[in-house]
Amino acid sequence: MNLRIPGPTPCPPQVLAAVAKPMINHRGRHFAELIGRVVERLKRFYRTQGDVLVLTASGTGGLEAAVVNTLSPGDRVLAVVIGAFGERFAAIAQAYGAEVVRLEYEWGRAADPDDVRRVLSRDPRIKAVLVTHNETSTGVTNPLKALAAVVREHERLLLVDAVSSLGAIPLETDAWGLDVVVTGSQKGWMVPPGLAFVSVSQRAWEAHREAKMPRFYLDLGRHKEALERGQTPWTPALSVLFGLDVALEMMEAEGLENIFARHARIGEMTRQGVKALGLRLLADERYASNTVTAVVVPDGVDERVLRRLLEDEYGVVLAGGQGKLSGKIFRIGHLGWVTEEDIRDTLDSLAQALPRVGYQLPSRA
Ligand code: PLP
Repeated sequence: MNLRIPGPTPCPPQVLAAVAKPMINHRGRHFAELIGRVVERLKRFYRTQGDVLVLTASGTGGLEAAVVNTLSPGDRVLAVVIGAFGERFAAIAQAYGAEVVRLEYEWGRAADPDDVRRVLSRDPRIKAVLVTHNETSTGVTNPLKALAAVVREHERLLLVDAVSSLGAIPLETDAWGLDVVVTGSQKGWMVPPGLAFVSVSQRAWEAHREAKMPRFYLDLGRHKEALERGQTPWTPALSVLFGLDVALEMMEAEGLENIFARHARIGEMTRQGVKALGLRLLADERYASNTVTAVVVPDGVDERVLRRLLEDEYGVVLAGGQGKLSGKIFRIGHLGWVTEEDIRDTLDSLAQALPRVGYQLPSRA
């Protein structure tokens, strides 16, 4: 199967073999070595000297941790929303009693740092800004470096959803001044779902001391304390950690810059290939994501029928649209363990399947 959804992503065989290893004592020295090694490597990918904690949770659990560890009920936050995952981050803050101010964009567009500057300079009560680095629902990568510079100018906290970007496209936690950065194991990291990684800056720890939102399982203070003893506070998803250990070794061998270059090359190849089929991209191309491409469903085509045909007869699995984009787009995931060959197969399969569901290819395709 050519699993071309934006997570869970395919896992290399070495990773799957590691996932099948026998259990170990999670309070023993072998675990302490494992978690120590994994966290040191994660810090290199995060580009941080600060703390990185490993939670047994999906990405959403990591986002919830970012919120409940830095904020109190009644705190005003600015949620920058460019798609479904920006909505989710805002909804989490709202569920815990934050006063959420939304800066919303049409789905397919990126956030404009000048708009964020305008809101922050007008409203000194905004304590934190929530931003999605790579909006998986629309295939858009926000200009995070520029957005972060604005948040730093105004000295607010910056909580970042980097679930579908970190480890695949450039992100500089310390240099850009990002306070909490969240990602999930099933995305660029080439391992199964089950772990969320969360970085915490000094500023975020200061906020943690004052933050009053309820927290227990996701209390990052407990996670930091346990990590200092080579443990996690609760029983971790050991199998996923075994896989992660191998995946991080593979990623280090490839090298961060080479990984970024591969994703950039493959992202471009996907966009060009899709356009050559006469299809339209949802994203503003200046901000098109190198980890996921959202394609507008052409008139007269039922995307569910198209995706079913691709899966059943071509072995290619694509993702549908989320929320208000359901039925209007399909998405091609290209992050983690992905090669040009995988994309060529996807594009060839699309070229064969599309005419079978009522779409006429342009004559040059
Ligand atoms: N944020 C983004 C940008 C995502 O792509 C996802 C998952 O698709 C999530 C958050 C939620 O992660 P999870 O499904 O692991 O809870």
